[in-house]
Amino acid sequence: MNIFEQRKEKEMRIAQSMSKVKFLLAIGSGKGGVGKSTIAANIAISLAKLGFKVGLADVDIYGPSIPTLFNIENEEVVGQEIDGKLHFQPIEKFGVKLMSIGFFVDPSKALMWRGPMASNTLIQMLSDTLWGELDYLIFDMPPGTGDIQLTLSHDFNLSGAVFVSTPQQLAISDVRRAVNMFKNESVNVPILGLVENMAYFVTNDLPNNKYYLFGKGGTEKFAKELDIEVLEQIPISEEISETNDSGNPISLIVDSLESNSFLSLARKINDKLVEINK
Ligand code: ADP
Repeated sequence: MNIFEQRKEKEMRIAQSMSKVKFLLAIGSGKGGVGKSTIAANIAISLAKLGFKVGLADVDIYGPSIPTLFNIENEEVVGQEIDGKLHFQPIEKFGVKLMSIGFFVDPSKALMWRGPMASNTLIQMLSDTLWGELDYLIFDMPPGTGDIQLTLSHDFNLSGAVFVSTPQQLAISDVRRAVNMFKNESVNVPILGLVENMAYFVTNDLPNNKYYLFGKGGTEKFAKELDIEVLEQIPISEEISETNDSGNPISLIVDSLESNSFLSLARKINDKLVEINK
């Protein structure tokens, strides 16, 4: 197969695997450790709670954390041969179909991969998974703006992207660079907005008093500068950290400050995508 035929074949494979997926949503960040996977997992669960069919693909090759967040680290991915080709069944938990690069590669080895090798592996995993019919397929992207992010954004015709940042990371140019990458005309993915994670802190006895530990107002200013909207502010919370560690994301809890914030975020994302695709 020559290089053009290979490209055509790859495009066909992607189109076929995504043919029953309505919206492809990327969750990105400038740097790692800002809570991108936490936000992706909770958006996925919240959208499922709203009645949507949801898949979550962990393509964060440098730190796949979806298996931990959903406590499925010891699950085995089941292969299924269709027309002589091996496909994978996603693992279903909390109403979400899950697949992670963490099931296939050792992150310490993935770090040494070069761009094309990593993106080809990710594309293969995404297109060989039997996602079936979905309203949402959410990509937990690798942080930053490397080749992998560029290739995935380009090849998968994303419906929209959401950025996650903490107040401390906002001023740093990585976030700006990440937003600009998606805005770039060769990628041209609609930016739905910014989620400010660890934005404030509340105590249990005074739930209406928000303490903005890292300052208030900086996010709005930054978002305005980049011409994007602040979709939601998520508090820094012991419950989020604990539920993450136990593999039961906070959105499973009914009617808490945090789970309501994620539900509101999921609604806004859906409204925006419906509006854009009207
Ligand atoms: P990323 O995907 O950006 O690398 P993670 O979602 O893995 O970030 O989160 C990094 C760490 O911060 C994890 O230990 C997670 O439990 C914790 N964390 C994320 N968001 C919050 C929050 N709002 N409150 C408390 N801890 C959080």
